[in-house]
Amino acid sequence: MKNIAVLGSTGSIGTQTLEVVEEQENQFKVSVLTANNNAELLIEQALKFEPKAVVICNEAKYQLVKNALAHTDIEILAGNEALNEVVCRNDVDIVLTALVGFSGLLPTIEAIKAKKTIALANKETLVVAGSIITKLAKENNVKIYPVDSEHSAIFQCLVGEENNPIEKIILTASGGPFRGKDIEFLQNATKAQALKHPNWEMGAKITIDSASLMNKGLEVIEAKWLFDLRNEQIEVIVHPQSIIHSLVQFEDGSMKAQLGLPDMKLPIQYALAYPKRLQNNYPRFSFLDYPNLTFEAPNTENFKCLTLAFEAMKLGGNMPCILNAANEIAVANFLKEKIKFLQIAKHVEFCMHNTPFVAEPTIDDLVKTDAFVRDLHIN
Ligand code: MG
Repeated sequence: MKNIAVLGSTGSIGTQTLEVVEEQENQFKVSVLTANNNAELLIEQALKFEPKAVVICNEAKYQLVKNALAHTDIEILAGNEALNEVVCRNDVDIVLTALVGFSGLLPTIEAIKAKKTIALANKETLVVAGSIITKLAKENNVKIYPVDSEHSAIFQCLVGEENNPIEKIILTASGGPFRGKDIEFLQNATKAQALKHPNWEMGAKITIDSASLMNKGLEVIEAKWLFDLRNEQIEVIVHPQSIIHSLVQFEDGSMKAQLGLPDMKLPIQYALAYPKRLQNNYPRFSFLDYPNLTFEAPNTENFKCLTLAFEAMKLGGNMPCILNAANEIAVANFLKEKIKFLQIAKHVEFCMHNTPFVAEPTIDDLVKTDAFVRDLHIN
């Protein structure tokens, strides 16, 4: 039985993780649940899964949660600081981090220091601090298992290939809702259109990132750190059906791919159960339902975010942190309908040019960079 702390249990990955736990109840037990703001769902989940502790990050909702769970033995904590503490507890084996954005960084660092296995759904953590996180994980002999479907695919392709160098990896991208759209369309693309992802059911932030291809850019940087790759070993190809979840090419030219229907519960289950594969009843993929699996090059002219992410990766230092913070702000503003779709990339580019560069940042430098970028406005 593995005890799991689910950070961000009320989001899309969090709720799907709890479905996996429920389906595999003799494999997994929830010991900690945390939510940013959704107290109602957190309470419902706590009553159902009976964790040892819950954290509500929004302190204004502490009393609400406290009252609702008063008749139980569940410990209730509040505030972001509490996240850093609960991940270190003895009754936690695996920390599944499904927090959104930069907020995932510090709890992940604490969990690694406490030698907990990490199931990583928060790609921004590796984007922002890949060199620090991977070094820390190595020092503490901690494994980081990817939950992101593309990275899970690569991870699965690499099982049994430990001594075989990778020539390159190919990350597949669905292309999102705006694949094939021209600049005129993108200029006036609305929030509602951007939120309609063709293949995946996900949270709002990542869905917008998929529409702008920033999600793929973040995944490129995530892959670099997860699999210890050089920049030029990572390629992106658009594959609209999202059946091939990614590929690895080895030195003999042979390629391995992982395929399946687009369902996040599969990579979640694999990350939690690794090295085991657990029986489940999820719908199975059939080639006959998909006679045409197609591929095309990403349009980096219209979707500048992908280009900017490659650039940030090459520049290194705190540049990916700048890219990420600028993107978080721009996406939040797009979701509030304060800026237009193409201004997301413009804002990211502006921040990359107007934030002090640090070649070898510490965690403290990254926290400062993140705060600096969040205050930066295009004039
Ligand atoms: Mg992904």
